[in-house]
Amino acid sequence: MGSMLEHGLSPTPANYLVWFSYHGDSAPGLRAELERQLAAQPRVTQAVMEELHVQFFTADHEALSLREVAARLEVAVHEAIGLVQDTREDALRYGGTLAQASDRMGGEPESLNALLRRLAAETLEVSRRSEAAARNLAETARKTQELRHELAEARRQAGTDPLTGLANRRHFDQALREQLAGQRPTALLMVDLDHFKAVNDTHGHPAGDQVLCRLADILGEAAPKGAVAARFGGEEFSLMLPCSQLREAMNMAEQIRGRIAQAAVELPEGGARISVTASFGVAMAIPGERPAQLIARADAALYEAKRGGRNRACSDPPPPKAESVWN
Ligand code: GH3
Ligand code: MG
Ligand code: MG
Repeated sequence: MGSMLEHGLSPTPANYLVWFSYHGDSAPGLRAELERQLAAQPRVTQAVMEELHVQFFTADHEALSLREVAARLEVAVHEAIGLVQDTREDALRYGGTLAQASDRMGGEPESLNALLRRLAAETLEVSRRSEAAARNLAETARKTQELRHELAEARRQAGTDPLTGLANRRHFDQALREQLAGQRPTALLMVDLDHFKAVNDTHGHPAGDQVLCRLADILGEAAPKGAVAARFGGEEFSLMLPCSQLREAMNMAEQIRGRIAQAAVELPEGGARISVTASFGVAMAIPGERPAQLIARADAALYEAKRGGRNRACSDPPPPKAESVWN
């Protein structure tokens, strides 16, 4: 607690969890990551703590269900291995019987009949057991396949926002981390609905949810290949765009802004027609920049767009200064 306060960190549950796990080395990878941060700057900022919390802990619930499915998959694989071993032991035993038989046939030709009868019985038994093993193996293979699908579905759900079907914050953060780590030219668009609280207040929360879904559709359709559109939280969305020119990113923001402004959600049974607008904050990633810094700059631009009257896009830094960062 003392060292947390030395770093100027508030003792929130999230901060405490990250700090405690760092000192106890209880979250794999967290210590190395925080030490890397400390080497770069000796004081840990709140932004870094938040990023570590998202990276190592917010997915606990989903991770648990993934672990469960993985464990079941492991049991199925072990069952399959057991079956193969049993079959192998059967074959070995059968081979032993054959070897014994051939030895005896050499010495006592008169007991040939008895030996043949034993061999025939043994052959039948091996074939019966092989058939049963094959059936069990087929069943195990089917179970494994089913579990593999469950695992893929659990993974997909863990990265999806249940209301809108877009990527969720967790998926987005991971994609952005990977994108920036790969030093790929990237723009970030943060999108926030204007006066959305009024939509809920006037038309009710379910109507507000419909508007959110509509906005998610527009964003998802506008996202080009390689881009990741996500519900960042509440009525805020984000778009990670692989692009090297601020002009291009601003054009994309303008396009989406226009589509949102033109769209309308019609409530059923002659109900109201709800139109909304959205404000955009756009930032080009600077090489070597961390996700939290890029997000903070896009947020600052979004704030400017709100302050400037909403239903518009602003960038950080403002054009044309950012045009050449990747060239
Ligand atoms: P501004 O233009 O400054 O962004 O104003 P605003 O009203 O959009 O912003 P504010 O932050 O005051 O309100 C955001 C609203 O978004 C309040 C909250 O109820 C609503 N909201 C957040 N998540 C959901 C959701 O999942 N469904 C619905 N229907 N509303 C939501
Ligand atoms: Mg808003
Ligand atoms: Mg908001």
